[in-house]
Amino acid sequence: MNIAVIGGGAAGFMAAITAKESKPEASVTIFEKTDKVLAKVKVSGGGRCNVTNATFSIAQLIKNYPRGGKQLKKPFNHFFTTDTVNWFENRGVPLKTEADNRMFPKTNSSQTIVDLLLNTAENLNIRVSFKSKVSAINPTENKINLSINGENLLFDKVIIASGGSPKESGLEWLTALGYKIVKPVPSLFTFNMPKNPITELMGLSVPNVITSIKGSKLKQNGPLLITHWGMSGPAILKLSSWDAQDLAKLNYNFSVQINWLGINEEELRTQFTNLTSSRKGMYKHNPLEIPKRLWHFMLKKLEVSESQIWNELAKKSKNRLINMLINDEFEVRGKTTFKEEFVSCGGIDLSEINMQTMESKRHKGIYFAGELLNIDGVTGGFNFQAAWTTGYLAGKNSTL
Ligand SMILES: Cc1cc2nc3c(=O)[nH]c(=O)nc-3n(C[C@H](O)[C@H](O)[C@H](O)COP(=O)(O)OP(=O)(O)OC[C@H]3O[C@@H](n4cnc5c(N)ncnc54)[C@H](O)[C@@H]3O)c2cc1C
Repeated sequence: MNIAVIGGGAAGFMAAITAKESKPEASVTIFEKTDKVLAKVKVSGGGRCNVTNATFSIAQLIKNYPRGGKQLKKPFNHFFTTDTVNWFENRGVPLKTEADNRMFPKTNSSQTIVDLLLNTAENLNIRVSFKSKVSAINPTENKINLSINGENLLFDKVIIASGGSPKESGLEWLTALGYKIVKPVPSLFTFNMPKNPITELMGLSVPNVITSIKGSKLKQNGPLLITHWGMSGPAILKLSSWDAQDLAKLNYNFSVQINWLGINEEELRTQFTNLTSSRKGMYKHNPLEIPKRLWHFMLKKLEVSESQIWNELAKKSKNRLINMLINDEFEVRGKTTFKEEFVSCGGIDLSEINMQTMESKRHKGIYFAGELLNIDGVTGGFNFQAAWTTGYLAGKNSTL
């Protein structure tokens, strides 16, 4: 059996290794269009590779995929986060879990993951063909014909793991086969707020905010980081992911609403009732769970004088302060790619795939895996988990 894997990324390597381990007599070749494999693994997670997430319930895990969560249920039944941990640990790469559940190799280096995948593939005699761009796929009656650098090669099975494409044009070689594509757009990016005074607070992290896009009902929570260009941190990245398609339609010009305290108006008013009888100075006495720098920034923005004491705060000013604390609004003008992890949402429509096997419903013998699919997760190791799972299933089933 001759198996071709298109793409030397995380999903392609997992598929190739699983195929060869399942059927050692098969010939498995990875075709990679560039002169490097596993390039994204190498740079992932800030050079540490956030391999997966310590979420060990399928119902919980799928909540982290804005696209494809529901459809991943079946694949996760076959290869779950626990399998990822075992897969790496049984091959001599123990993982560790950080406080936020992200899992990294204990070495803290993505090179460990790259080396493991490369060495495993080499030991199994998986061939890696560099600078080999697959430009067309032509399924014939019994075999599948691939055009690679102008040459035509025949295979029994083909696994397509060519990764996400930021543009629809990058997927034309697959639309030519009739596959339905969900228009790809970027996901996991930070918000640009050029010249907004809030950027003076760059480096500041606010622990528990609630964010939403004006006009959208979706809310996200978590830490928010103020950067020199705008805003980042989990509460922003999750919004960029869940609202990726709407934000693309708005051409990344929109308003973001921020509840800096993560509590509702009623709770805040109760806290204020106690404060407004206090003789303490407002600048010195910040009773709320936000950093001092942000507190001073807000008071200045509201033109509260430095000598203002709590119990002399006018009702109108109090209401404006409450509104700013729980419903602040910022204009966003553009996006910046998040350095730690970015993905494209969109890709091959999942209705084209048998999610038990990752085989195409359209063409027998063709399998799909990885970011090329219309599956993407928020940050935290969820994207690699999807690549390991779909790669594993495609590899295994291609040998049956
Ligand atoms: C900077 C960065 C950091 C990240 N960090 C994390 C992280 O820590 N945790 C996490 O879960 N996710 C992370 N991600 C996301 C994760 O890296 C991807 O979701 C994952 O690598 C996708 O794997 P893949 O194999 O599907 O695609 P890719 O890794 O993109 O691999 C596809 C390969 O196919 C090749 N190819 C494409 N077309 C062809 C063709 N026609 N012929 C031959 N070869 C072709 C490409 O050159 C590429 O090598 C990060 C992403 C980025 C960009």
